[in-house]
Amino acid sequence: MLSPMPHDLPKSYEPGAIEARWAEYWVKEKLFSVPTPGAGETCPVFSLLLPPPNVTGRLHMGHMLNQTQMDIIMRWHRMRGDVTLWLPGTDHAGIATQMMVERQLATEGKKRSELGREQFIQRVWCWKKQYGSAIQEQMRRLGASVDWSREYFTMDDKLSRAVREAFVRLHEEGLIYRGKYIVNWCPRCETAISDLEVKHEEIPGKLYEIRYPVVGTTTGTDEFITVATTRPETMLGDTAIAVNERDERYMHLHGKKVLLPLMNREIPIITDELAQPEFGTGAVKVTPAHDPDDFEAGLRHNLPQIEVMDQHARMNENAGPYAGLDRYAARKRVLEDLQTQGFLVGEKAYTISIGKCDRCGTVVEPRLSTQWFIKIQPLADRAIEVVEKDYIRFTPANYRQIYLNWMRNIHDWCISRQLWWGHRIPAWHCACGEIVVARETPSSCAKCGSSELKQDPDVLDTWFSSGLLPFTALGWPEATRDLEVFYPTSLLITGFDILFFWVARMIMLGCWFMAPPHKPGADGRDARPSTSDDENLGGRASRPFALTDEELRDSVPFREVYIHALVRDAERQKMSKTKGNVLDPIQVIEKYGTDATRFTLAAMSSPGTDIAFNESRTEGYRAFANKIWNAARFMFMNVDRIGSCGGDTLVRAAADPASGFSGFAASTLEDRWILSRFNSVAKSVNESLASYRFDEAANSIYDFFWGEFCDWYIELVKPRLAPEAEQNARTACANLVALFEASLRLLHPVMPFITDEIWHAIYDGKPPRKSLALAAYPQANEAQIDRNAETQMAILQDLVVSVRNLRAELKVETKVKVPVEIYATEPEIRALIEQNLGAVERLGNVEKVTFAERSLSNLPGARHTARFDVHVIYEKKIDVAAERERLKKELEKMDKETANLQKQLENEQFLAKAPTQVIQNMRRRVRELEILRGKAGGQLGELGLQGI
Ligand SMILES: [Zn+2]
Ligand SMILES: [Zn+2]
Repeated sequence: MLSPMPHDLPKSYEPGAIEARWAEYWVKEKLFSVPTPGAGETCPVFSLLLPPPNVTGRLHMGHMLNQTQMDIIMRWHRMRGDVTLWLPGTDHAGIATQMMVERQLATEGKKRSELGREQFIQRVWCWKKQYGSAIQEQMRRLGASVDWSREYFTMDDKLSRAVREAFVRLHEEGLIYRGKYIVNWCPRCETAISDLEVKHEEIPGKLYEIRYPVVGTTTGTDEFITVATTRPETMLGDTAIAVNERDERYMHLHGKKVLLPLMNREIPIITDELAQPEFGTGAVKVTPAHDPDDFEAGLRHNLPQIEVMDQHARMNENAGPYAGLDRYAARKRVLEDLQTQGFLVGEKAYTISIGKCDRCGTVVEPRLSTQWFIKIQPLADRAIEVVEKDYIRFTPANYRQIYLNWMRNIHDWCISRQLWWGHRIPAWHCACGEIVVARETPSSCAKCGSSELKQDPDVLDTWFSSGLLPFTALGWPEATRDLEVFYPTSLLITGFDILFFWVARMIMLGCWFMAPPHKPGADGRDARPSTSDDENLGGRASRPFALTDEELRDSVPFREVYIHALVRDAERQKMSKTKGNVLDPIQVIEKYGTDATRFTLAAMSSPGTDIAFNESRTEGYRAFANKIWNAARFMFMNVDRIGSCGGDTLVRAAADPASGFSGFAASTLEDRWILSRFNSVAKSVNESLASYRFDEAANSIYDFFWGEFCDWYIELVKPRLAPEAEQNARTACANLVALFEASLRLLHPVMPFITDEIWHAIYDGKPPRKSLALAAYPQANEAQIDRNAETQMAILQDLVVSVRNLRAELKVETKVKVPVEIYATEPEIRALIEQNLGAVERLGNVEKVTFAERSLSNLPGARHTARFDVHVIYEKKIDVAAERERLKKELEKMDKETANLQKQLENEQFLAKAPTQVIQNMRRRVRELEILRGKAGGQLGELGLQGI
């Protein structure tokens, strides 16, 4: 044997080997690196920011779906000739990463505090170096066509500078302030967390009723006010009791005081809307340092804020005898003491809503602390306007309203976190009380000149830096060409879970920093606000730059947002570690290949519908890949036999990106048909992808490639490829190759690996481009759509399928050819069948076709359609004895049923009661049985004759 041709594909399809090789090749060849287009270039641009995975991340099914959808869209745009940038990066994920390293330290018996800040941060960098690129490796394996040359990390110097710049500018504009507020505090993570990072749970708990004695009542008798609470330990920090002004029960107590039990502290009775007469006793305790509503009430009444817990949720020195106790131990002691002293008057079961830290599951404690905040207006208003004006469009469309509702009820955003890992807040504290916010570390205090400045210990919420990414990752605050070309990005594909965390923040920050005056290089306007008149800066914040519609439209971080659905298990259950139904995408890939896994996710994703991931589907799509593989082998076998028949036409095809494909000489009906079908499918696939109908796109390609191309076209074209066909064979083979090549291009975005493998083989390893990923995506050529050919082929297919079905019913053995009789309703149909007699005979396994002059409608066992009747002429060769036995049993069964029915139909009582419909049905069944018995009897009679 000669050495195999480069297009000699291995006999069996092994995705593992193919995929690893191509994944490496694409990265090594830097196929998806996008040089920034020069100033004169005006190519269409498509850009997408990869939602940066956490540095601690591992690929899960949700990522896999997200990755698949993004990669399909990006490959599609790239093949359509757009300058396509898919920008990858990783998020430093402050709280998650810090926890990971803390856990690692714990295994060495060490604590973060023992290391100190500097050393701890060093440890995190080491950890990142060692483990931080797992998800990028997984992405490479998936074939993600990102531009690795532009990969960023959110803690890179460049991005860190941009974060600092954004903070300082917002501060200069009066949009960042520092203040004491009630925050959600995680006593384990020892940091403030945002509302979004708190998971709420309903649990059975207790509501305690405590009575507070009123001081100095006029009647001289003891009087009490009773309040109810689920957190009795917080009473130690009470600074008032509130009643409603309208509440007649308490009118005589306005202006009086109560004695706070256990603490023996007199606190005022105030009137405030916080107390609702309809609820409970109508009186409430006020603990400004431990409850957000009480905090507000405290400000209204100028109440002291007494903190009774420390950062670990342990009682502090303000909690008197309870100091040092954990919050739950304190609760127990407080209740015991209240009981003993006669202040606890009630206790009832009560469903309480508790908030838990999203990261560690610890119950969050509302805590008074000093934090940095972003003043949400006018940022939020602008972010609402761009969506209202449809400058950003959501798919599925219902997310638009969800987004708007949330934005219209948004509060100021607490952006400081008491962590060590993250972007440290660029603010320095001086002993004189001055706080200096600056881009560079200041050397001295602006107020007192002291050089003893301490940087604020807090870091920024991770979502602050990731909210800036659409522009900082492209070079902001510099006026880069990348920003000019790729911003606004075209699309964002992400999950619902980070709509508020991330999508909303990107819109707010993008529309602020990428609009004048912040937009770099904004024509003639100051890129940076003047710092000469500090007094006016606060004023500037409330009067934002008036933007033109165009400026507003171009400030958005992305033009479109596609929110992908959830991947659930095969039973439609949410995947969760506790249920143990989490599917690891890498395992699925190892079993069926990346192509089949991608195809499954694509074929199941329609906007807004969760995916019930079923491995049997993946198995099916692996079989699809296998089908393509075998079809390719069949093609190459013919190419080898006939001699090179594809090369010339293919080079032409590759040079003609505009049309579906060329180099295809349509000489027969099946050629015209498949050419037409290809173009129709290309048209619908392009339309489906444009509207994120990944399911429609994948299913159309599947039906075409397997159902039409492999099952019909290849079968139809076989005789033309036969050795005796000679000259015909060259054309037929060239057609086959051209069609195959174009179909690979059509499929490539969904199954990039197998398609690139076969595509390279088609060109014998000398392809016109480095990868199929860089070839042109098929666009429909309307001129090649031939409805007439599609109709004619549909009739022939219908005919063949009818014959096949009749054969199956008659249990004709596969090898046996049968004669058929056909009646065509129109002369043209008869002509069509006659012209394609060979195909009908071969595909239907037909021996001889005769045409009837009249309808076969009264012939039992014939198939009728509007265009033809067909009948298979077949003498059953059967086991006479067995068949006779079967028929006898059938007859007995029918006799029995008839007898039963008749007995009932003769029963007067039954007839009187039964609904007419039931009786009618029974009578009909009796008549049916009569006919069936007649037929079976006749058959039995015939068999009897044969048996003799
Ligand atoms: Zn926590
Ligand atoms: Zn100072």
